[in-house]
Amino acid sequence: SKRDPIVVARKVTRSFGGINAVDVEHLEIPRHKITALIGPNGAGKTTLFNLLTGFDTPNSGDWEFDGKPLAKVASHKVARMGMVRTFQLTKVMGKLTVMENMRLGAADQPGESLGRALFKGLWGGREREITKQADVLLEKFKLDTKRDDYAASLSGGQRKLLEMARALMVRPRLVMLDEPMAGVNPALTQSLLEHIKNLKAEGMTVLFVEHDMQMVRHIADWVVVMAEGKVVAEGPPAVVMKDQAVIDAYLGAH
Ligand code: ATP
Repeated sequence: SKRDPIVVARKVTRSFGGINAVDVEHLEIPRHKITALIGPNGAGKTTLFNLLTGFDTPNSGDWEFDGKPLAKVASHKVARMGMVRTFQLTKVMGKLTVMENMRLGAADQPGESLGRALFKGLWGGREREITKQADVLLEKFKLDTKRDDYAASLSGGQRKLLEMARALMVRPRLVMLDEPMAGVNPALTQSLLEHIKNLKAEGMTVLFVEHDMQMVRHIADWVVVMAEGKVVAEGPPAVVMKDQAVIDAYLGAH
């Protein structure tokens, strides 16, 4: 079948002092699939996420999302274009309610601003639509009973769910999850996995960073391996996990 990647990146570099945190020659993220980005600590995974989503600026290189050039586009515009990400440490706002956090997610939508979303509650006629969309998502993520609670009262796993739900408020085509399983208790692990699989079933593309290889084997269609800023292997999980370069990359880290 013809390759139709949702993201294509070329010669992307980012260094900090003397360290080449990211030095990617070529990277493609397959559309409508779940791709795992793996690699030892310090491999550059989070830095690559930051670059692709406009939270950091590359030293060089460019990339396209859905055929549109996206290098050096600001993060809120990246989100509006349909590419959202979550963070290793969630950016859920504890002093806001669950619903207010969801509204903030909608602030990344065209025509909205953070100020309007947060303080004025004016939505240019879209308030009802946004609230309804948030309620549907909260029910789906089983956070509807927490709707009016402060986000600070949520467990670590519930915060991960809220962050994922909030990211979906922009109706993205690509969802990037940075260590979605970290800090999630076993009771919520299975449901998080199901949510990630559902994103794909609903037509989205997923890219996630993960250290848990069992999870990678379980849900990834494709695996990209980074080590020392470079892509050292990619392919289906069963093939990549047997690759000597991959094994070396991990052993090299210990
Ligand atoms: P982990 O699995 O531990 O999250 P990672 O693969 O996400 O690691 P990065 O966090 O992207 O790796 O880090 C890549 C390299 O860049 C590391 O050597 C790190 O110390 C360095 N680095 C990342 N961000 C910065 C920064 N803001 N300032 C200085 N160095 C940085």
